[in-house]
Amino acid sequence: MSFTNVAIIGLGLLGGSIGLAVQHYLPGIRTTGYDSDAETRRRAGDRRLADRICESATEAVAEADLVIFCVPPGAMGEAAAEIAEALPTGAVVSDVGSCKQSIAKALGDALPDHVIIPAHPVAGTENSGPDAGFASLFQNRWCIVTPPEPCDLLKLTALVEFWEALGANVEIMDAEHHDLVLAVTSHLPHLIAYTIVGTASDLEDVTESEVIKYSAGGFRDFTRIAASDPTMWRDVFLGNKDAVLTMLQRFSEDITALQRAIRTDNGDALFDHFARTRDIRRSIIEEGQDDARPDFGRADHGEE
Ligand code: NAP
Repeated sequence: MSFTNVAIIGLGLLGGSIGLAVQHYLPGIRTTGYDSDAETRRRAGDRRLADRICESATEAVAEADLVIFCVPPGAMGEAAAEIAEALPTGAVVSDVGSCKQSIAKALGDALPDHVIIPAHPVAGTENSGPDAGFASLFQNRWCIVTPPEPCDLLKLTALVEFWEALGANVEIMDAEHHDLVLAVTSHLPHLIAYTIVGTASDLEDVTESEVIKYSAGGFRDFTRIAASDPTMWRDVFLGNKDAVLTMLQRFSEDITALQRAIRTDNGDALFDHFARTRDIRRSIIEEGQDDARPDFGRADHGEE
């Protein structure tokens, strides 16, 4: 492994998971960690999310050969500016942000003289904060690396090897394409979940207790996604605005077509659509990206 000192800025779900994963899978690497929140730093110390928890970002990066920003997308530029004076020459700067073009620009503006190789591990949960991280978060999950053009090949290889050592499968992708793909696979589903949970809670003729009582009918699975961190998701939608709006337009057209099929009693159109979507679910399970057991393997169904 080319890296010996990894600095993690932001010690929530992603930063904490990287710290724990490095200790577990790359025990030869020393980690330093910093979070702007004092209580998070204290909790990170209790959980040993990094070998050393620092009181400032400059202290955390002072000896780093890899710095990974794990802060909300909208805080990347500010966090990068904070370390500009202290960052060793030659250190690789990366991040885990969920949208790539806007973050690459923010990091580049703050650190114009450094090698920046953005990345996005497509792994997470609806939980956030210093208690949310765990070492196996990246196992068998994709990590999309979006190198600039041109990019230092040795440094790119070192970053790819780092993520592979933490258990991820790495894909190299153009940042613009990343933002389009993630708009439909992640950002739009979150927007739909936030919408539907909001709609249900605003209904006047269905009580809140009924929504909760009968949630196993499908609603419950949306609520898991809609419980995701509001700061992060506000930043994702503003940071990937164009791609999200493009996908939202496509989604509106498709839902209008289904609306028409229901109104005109076009059962064949509905059946064909649902059969196609069921095939997608099967492919996700075949690729090991989800659990095939009924109800996502929930324990209350006696599956575990
Ligand atoms: P998180 O659990 O909320 O952790 C982020 C941490 O960064 C918080 O403790 C936050 O403190 C801290 N922070 C904010 N500004 C900072 C600054 N300037 N300097 C140092 N620390 C700062 O969030 P997360 O889920 O780990 O997400 C982090 C990044 O990972 C985001 O960019 C997100 O897009 C990406 N990501 C998330 C997921 C997911 O499922 N959650 C998956 C893949 C990628 P405060 O709470 O005090 O602001």
